Amino acid sequence: MEVPFVDLRAQYESIRPQLDEAMTGSVMKFNFIGGESVSKFEKQFRVAVNSNYCISTGNCTDALFAALKVLGVGPGDEVITPAFTWISSAETISLCHATPVFVDVDPQTYTIDPAKIEEKITTKTKGIILVHLYGQAAHASVIRDLCLAKNFFLIEDCAQAHFTREGNKYAGTFGDAGAFSFYPTKNLGAYGDAGCLITDSEDLAIKTRRFVNHGALKKDDHLIEGFNSRMDSLQAAVLLTKLPYLNGWNAGRRVNGDAYNRLLSGIPEVTTPYVRPGTEHTFHLYVIRCERRNELRQFLESKGIQSVVHYPAALPNLPAYRYLNHSVKDFPVASLLQHQVLSLPVYPELSPDKIEYVCESIKAFYSH
Ligand SMILES: *Cc1c(COP(=O)(O)O)cnc(C)c1O
Repeated sequence: MEVPFVDLRAQYESIRPQLDEAMTGSVMKFNFIGGESVSKFEKQFRVAVNSNYCISTGNCTDALFAALKVLGVGPGDEVITPAFTWISSAETISLCHATPVFVDVDPQTYTIDPAKIEEKITTKTKGIILVHLYGQAAHASVIRDLCLAKNFFLIEDCAQAHFTREGNKYAGTFGDAGAFSFYPTKNLGAYGDAGCLITDSEDLAIKTRRFVNHGALKKDDHLIEGFNSRMDSLQAAVLLTKLPYLNGWNAGRRVNGDAYNRLLSGIPEVTTPYVRPGTEHTFHLYVIRCERRNELRQFLESKGIQSVVHYPAALPNLPAYRYLNHSVKDFPVASLLQHQVLSLPVYPELSPDKIEYVCESIKAFYSH
């Protein structure tokens, strides 16, 4: 049996006529950047996550960068961000000529550990970027309260957390702004790069809109210098077609996550994902912690099962951050996770027999 890590073709086939019509219709307008489908998607997405403003961008990394710039982050500033995540949050801080200050992650949720933030605060701290990793809700309300008390900004990286909730509040709506990715394999994926920033602040919304469009809200009206990061009409047409299915697809991922939890529960070498009470996980990734991770991965590969490591190195341990002179002892949880985490296929179209096959293969690996 072959079990791919993702299957974008299966999703396409499930709504093929609608997607084909949307894409052809979009091209036939011969208006390729921005336009009606982009503003329609911005409106539908912000309504879906209950936010006042949505500014589309070329990708999520740009949305994070734009948010930091319009919040005034610059040389000499420090911004706190988790030690274990994708590189975007940290590299955009550096792009602003500020310093990323890493905080270790919570050993249960794998998101930034609120108890370890305080000790990293200095007079240079300007704000925090948290990450809702794997689709798990980070401790956003606790961290928002800390930010309000200290007059810090809070940006949420929601690239893996479309419709993730804490209580009835969506990821991205706790802080000043939330950045989303619509990279093709995300829970809501375009057919190319795309992203957006959501915010409840009119001021932040206007400044971001200006910044991502060469500093101009209208043609030739360059009030400031900005840069260019906009959503293609074609991507908006794809996203508008897919958005109504997102809740169902997320539910499918949760069903698959539950099946894995059940079938893997008796294996002492495997720890299944924790879900924080009072939150809704959207399982962008189903990540186990396991012993002999690399060997297990190879064994699964030999059985036709694809798995991926998110991530093989905590950010402070990457060559890119060697200049910060951190040691693995500074981030014990993140530095352990990098050796233990393994992401199993969890896409909504994954069939129960494939999940059983994956779990039986894992059992077989640990029984000899
Ligand atoms: C995918 C991802 C990003 C980057 O998104 P792009 O749209 O590719 O820029 C940022 N943060 C996290 C946590 C991600 O998973």
